[in-house]
Formats: sequence, structure tokens, C-alpha cells
Amino acid sequence: MRKGPKRPGFKFKNTKGIEYEVLFYKPNKKVYDHAVGLCHDPDEKDPKILIDPYQTDQGELNTAIHEFAHAFFWDKSETDVVAFANAVSRFLYNECKWRKSRPPAKTTKKKKSAKKRKKT
Ligand SMILES: [Zn+2]
Repeated sequence: MRKGPKRPGFKFKNTKGIEYEVLFYKPNKKVYDHAVGLCHDPDEKDPKILIDPYQTDQGELNTAIHEFAHAFFWDKSETDVVAFANAVSRFLYNECKWRKSRPPAKTTKKKKSAKKRKKT
């Protein structure tokens, strides 16, 4: 079993002073119905944002914006958050051509380092 996340989580505080940790994990698909992202309720202990790392760049960008929006504007509806994240990510991706400087997770497999990985 893998201990902890691969990458150390990014941390930030929302304007209510709640600290979130962002982890690149696929949310449990049984529990969250194949969601690509997840934002915990700010009232939970040690709330986290989970982002599925196995997405396209654009998907990851959209998910990140989406989940951060939840963390800052918890009371906003899903419809509002979806519309906001789609608008921002389309602007950044299609209009400004923002891209990651490394390939997406899918293509970063190195054959040499045969680390134990659970295929789920
Ligand atoms: Zn949402």
C-alpha cells in the first residue's frame, strides 16, 4: 500500500482562514461517481481538494479552478461553479494558450524506474 501522496500537497487558505491542502488523487469513483475533482466542506477537519491527475491538461486546469472556487465560495451552487470554471479555463487554455510545462500524467511513465504502482 502506498503511503501518502506522491507529491507534497499545495496548501492555501480561503478568506475564512480555512487551510486547504491540494492533492493529485483520483477521488474514489464508487463514492463520488467518477468525479475528476473533489472539494471538502470547509467545516471538515483538514479539508482537502482532490484533483484527478489522469486528465488532459485542459481537464486538470478546469478541475483545479472548479475545486478552488468551491473552497472559496462554498455556498455557491454547482451550476455557478461550473460556469465560472468553464469560462476561466476556456479563456486561459483556448485564448491565452496556457499549457503545462511537462507532459500530462499519462505520458510520464518511465520504463526504467519500475516502482511499485497499484493499477486501479
Ligand atoms: Zn463542483
